[in-house]
Amino acid sequence: MGRIEEEIKDYALKRTGILAVGIASVEDINRYAPVGYRPDDQLPGAKSVIVLGGQHPTKGSWKAHPKVMVEIGPTADGPVRHAAGLSYFLEAKYGGESVPTIANTSLGGSLQGGTMPWQSIKLHAEMAGLGQRSLMGGVILNQTYGFFSLGSCITTLELEPDGPLEATICPHSTCIKLYEKTGQTFCMQACPLQCLSGEIENGRIKKMTYLRYRCASICQRDKEHGILIRRAIKKALEGKDFDMKQMLYGEEFASAENRLAYGTLRYFANCWECIKACPVVKRGIKSEKA
Ligand code: SF4
Ligand code: SF4
Repeated sequence: MGRIEEEIKDYALKRTGILAVGIASVEDINRYAPVGYRPDDQLPGAKSVIVLGGQHPTKGSWKAHPKVMVEIGPTADGPVRHAAGLSYFLEAKYGGESVPTIANTSLGGSLQGGTMPWQSIKLHAEMAGLGQRSLMGGVILNQTYGFFSLGSCITTLELEPDGPLEATICPHSTCIKLYEKTGQTFCMQACPLQCLSGEIENGRIKKMTYLRYRCASICQRDKEHGILIRRAIKKALEGKDFDMKQMLYGEEFASAENRLAYGTLRYFANCWECIKACPVVKRGIKSEKA
């Protein structure tokens, strides 16, 4: 690792309180990301992506009721905010240009239109050696910390990349044993809605399915949206035109619509039952560094 890479990682770890930092090359990311969703589509001339992993939900959050986790479990705000700070640091100290990665689906759609996220921060993390996709709907697992949230910053600086990991994190050895006996792993068994399924072959993920439409977080959004529409129709049928319009053009409906269409605002997170059951996550929660 070169001097600049070491300084950047040191700054990020000491100044932001995140758990881990990795560097990916844009060239590696672009081998997988389609045109329009690449780091150099967001920042022309981009050469590297610095990925921040952390923090965990607090130890207390993991033990709380699932509905509490839905509300306070997500911790992505931290690394996303720190990635913005890191962008200023890079420009001030090393020159070049840097931007924080657009982390969420955009209300205006990406450059390509639609509601696909501009970048896959999961892909950034994989190419920076911060973790690998898992059977939990592609959640990134880190070998030391288990689950953590991610943020990243795209820069024109040409940095030495860490590159993807070689060791396999998911499936864990105990999951392989369970799969051989039952055809399911811990995360699959824990899901109350059977959203997760897959196949393991020779100790590796062969196939993975995540039924996003069934996942509790999405269902909750759908339900709320439907309830508001039914209420508005009822008001219309009662001839209460003003009340119906208040409902359809009001703040509550706009908020429910955004959640449904873009996965933003509250209930962006999941019920976390699969994540809590994962042996890699459990080990990470116990990690002294977490
Ligand atoms: S978050 Fe909950 S509903 Fe969604 S896949 Fe995991 S266990 Fe299933
Ligand atoms: S429980 Fe964790 S390690 Fe096991 S298969 Fe699911 S995601 Fe992978």
